[in-house]
Amino acid sequence: MQTVAPRLASRLREVVAADRVIDDPATLLPYAYDASFWSLRMNRVPDVVVVPVSTAEVAAVVRIADETNTPVVPRGGGTGQTGGAVAARGGIVISFARMRAIVEIDRPNLQAVVEPGLVFADLQAALLPHGLFFPPDPGSGRACTLGGMVANNASGPHAVRWGTTSAYVLGVELVLADGSVIQTGGLHSKALKSSSGIDLTKLFVGSEGTLGIATRLRLRVQPRPSARAVVLAGYNALEDTVGSLDDLFKEGILPSTAELLDRSAVEAIRLYRPDLGLPDGEAVLFIEVEGTPGYVASAARMVEAIAKQRATVTSLAEDEAAIQRLWSARSGLAAAAALAHPNKHRIFAGEDLAVPLSEIPRTIRRARDRQGVRDRGHLLRPLRRRERALRDPHRPERSR
Ligand SMILES: Cc1cc2nc3c(=O)[nH]c(=O)nc-3n(C[C@H](O)[C@H](O)[C@H](O)COP(=O)(O)OP(=O)(O)OC[C@H]3O[C@@H](n4cnc5c(N)ncnc54)[C@H](O)[C@@H]3O)c2cc1C
Repeated sequence: MQTVAPRLASRLREVVAADRVIDDPATLLPYAYDASFWSLRMNRVPDVVVVPVSTAEVAAVVRIADETNTPVVPRGGGTGQTGGAVAARGGIVISFARMRAIVEIDRPNLQAVVEPGLVFADLQAALLPHGLFFPPDPGSGRACTLGGMVANNASGPHAVRWGTTSAYVLGVELVLADGSVIQTGGLHSKALKSSSGIDLTKLFVGSEGTLGIATRLRLRVQPRPSARAVVLAGYNALEDTVGSLDDLFKEGILPSTAELLDRSAVEAIRLYRPDLGLPDGEAVLFIEVEGTPGYVASAARMVEAIAKQRATVTSLAEDEAAIQRLWSARSGLAAAAALAHPNKHRIFAGEDLAVPLSEIPRTIRRARDRQGVRDRGHLLRPLRRRERALRDPHRPERSR
């Protein structure tokens, strides 16, 4: 069958520099994948990848796609878990790898204007000296882009306190399917709210690249809290974890993060970081509070006292190094899971739970029952060995 790719590529090279139009099969291959299982199985290689550097180039590419009836797929970091950045029906992938500028950081108005290919972690690093941060914090933050976050309405562990990306998008510059360019939400405005017609910004956020291609984003940023503390609470019943959170809400306390680790997650982390001393039991909660140092000191103690009403054990991490140790152990969970089953591969599959808070215990229990995950001795044996080795590193291996 005659392929359209060479003709398409040469048309695209009329509007984008030749070295930013990719059509050799080996270089195209990585673009067949994102972080989804679907893309691993389907192997959908695009016909051409274009790497534009400006809105005008994106618009010119989309016009060619429109004329030739070619599908177009915008792509950020390729960390999406649903295949959204993969050209399911071939066509053109537009990579934003060369559009990652920070156009403006405006502290008095708590805003930033950025290009969509900017990586989340790079935005956070740039905001830091201004005492600002961008609250939605997906686990993929070191690789995912702001364009991908906006298109997927990404969130993360901070969502309990700060909400999802949609709360932080004030305006978008968009290239539509015919190549025309529009601006929603007043891209040059400094206002937090604009009432000049339908809220197209909200319509675009979460539309997964289907309603238009973002080429510039006006984002709302927030003052960075100067202190934080983490209360670690161990429970014998999963229900008590959400019970504790409800107790906090009743007292008017909204933690910045509430991360639940069930027994299997705790056991995996203990294999990898026995020094953290995560407690035995059915579940562990990491409850983070943030704010000024004075507020954090009293709020953390209040949170611990409330958690104690249901938890079997609690502890408090106030020193930044200790807090980072806890969170880095949590982010190593996927790798740690492999330690529980050293002879197997594909131990861990990251998925998002989309259930109400109150339903989390029942959901975890049902997932565990289906997987047949029980409190198995074989998981605990290596853990006990490592814990003993940590206590007494000079003891010979065979006697442990
Ligand atoms: C380890 C890991 C942890 C994760 N943790 C989280 C998490 O905590 N919370 C969460 O919500 N998600 C999480 N994700 C999923 C994913 O990282 C997010 O959805 C992220 O926002 C995707 O960004 P990206 O730049 O990688 O987008 P891509 O995967 O490249 O694209 C995602 C979608 O956005 C579209 N898109 C990209 N750029 C544009 C643009 N400029 N204009 C229009 N559409 C565009 C694409 O077409 C596609 O439909 C995680 C993924 C991994 C692998």
